[in-house]
Amino acid sequence: MSFQNLGLSEPVVHGAQRMGYSDPTPIQLRAAPVILAGRDLIASAQTGTGKTAAFALPILSKLDHHEPRIRCLVLEPTRELAMQVETAFRDYMRFMHTEVTLIHGGVGYGRQREDLKRQCDVVVATPGRLLDLMQQSAVDLGGLQFLVLDEVDRMLDMGFLPDVRRIVEKCPKERQTLLFSATIPEEIQRLSAWCLRDPERIEIGARRSPAETVTHALYPVALDQKFDLLLTLLERTNYDSVLIFTRTKDGADRISRQLKKNNHSVATLHSNRTQNERVDALEGFKAGRYEVMVATDIAARGIDIAGVSHVINYDVPQHPEDYVHRIGRTGRAQTVGDAFTIMTAEELPHVLDIERFIGQKVPRKKIEDFNYVYTALFNEESVMSSLKGAKGVRTHKGMRFGASRRRR
Ligand code: AMP
Repeated sequence: MSFQNLGLSEPVVHGAQRMGYSDPTPIQLRAAPVILAGRDLIASAQTGTGKTAAFALPILSKLDHHEPRIRCLVLEPTRELAMQVETAFRDYMRFMHTEVTLIHGGVGYGRQREDLKRQCDVVVATPGRLLDLMQQSAVDLGGLQFLVLDEVDRMLDMGFLPDVRRIVEKCPKERQTLLFSATIPEEIQRLSAWCLRDPERIEIGARRSPAETVTHALYPVALDQKFDLLLTLLERTNYDSVLIFTRTKDGADRISRQLKKNNHSVATLHSNRTQNERVDALEGFKAGRYEVMVATDIAARGIDIAGVSHVINYDVPQHPEDYVHRIGRTGRAQTVGDAFTIMTAEELPHVLDIERFIGQKVPRKKIEDFNYVYTALFNEESVMSSLKGAKGVRTHKGMRFGASRRRR
């Protein structure tokens, strides 16, 4: 099935072709007919499946021409995602006369108020700033036809669902609502029961399985040696671009500083950075000005960075879903990617959770000629029993190893 046969409008098909898309992806194939038929939709699909185009192309086909009112509202959890989706709309509507605008926090209100006054056809927004502007009566949603709630599980994690509900309450009852979420827990089911009408459900791929093109590996190491191991991994890996995830913002700053000292070109992305710094990091990394980007989970969801050849988890994610999202940054759109996770003894329980969640065992790897301080890490049974024995007993270097601790 080609884009032409999907029932999309001609300018939209041209827009997709100009992006270099030759065939629709599975979610595009399944979502387009539902959206074109005017049905509400709940779709669960992994990131990187082409989900933005899956809703943008049919919506644009139905918007057709410019009208001075907001006809489509897309809510996104983060500024980065909002920017990415706005850019996608702009690309797809290249051969149309419709307009799109972006509303998010962290920048002045002036331009956003002006854009809203002009009444763009499509508004892509984060919930907080949009609600602010709505409370100032700067937004008229009276002519809304399409409401897209994207990455809803992320909005749930970030505590945005009450804001989302307030926004939905101000939308006209007669509208088409599309909800996208990697997972659909109970709270999201309740939200969808409240704001969708007889929705069609689409599930693409096994929700829990990470991108199939990614190869995974775990690198056990003592806490003191994590950074040395990271440097060694970077030295020994033939990468084009590496995304390194840390659990905390301070951790991201610290790793970035240390990597810079070791002559790596590094961008840093987390929510304490200014909007300009975030844009510079993301753009610079995409353009290849920085080979390495160190980020917290803010970058893990949905951000589309083509050509990330490697993801390195400097910390093991505490939630298995985050592991899937993080490694989803590589191996996108059929390219192969490697996901390395550095793990310390006390993180082993999280590793086991992740393996249960993804339904596969991740191979443990040892770097030849790396000067490991502890090799007991590779004996996981004894690590687990030490962890149980030492429950609650932590040193500044992490969990104690008791009898199994052995120096090489
Ligand atoms: P998304 O899941 O929306 O973040 O999209 C992931 C990536 O796939 C983006 O870089 C899109 O430009 C790209 N993409 C979307 N649809 C197609 C398609 N039909 N063919 C090739 N690439 C696509």
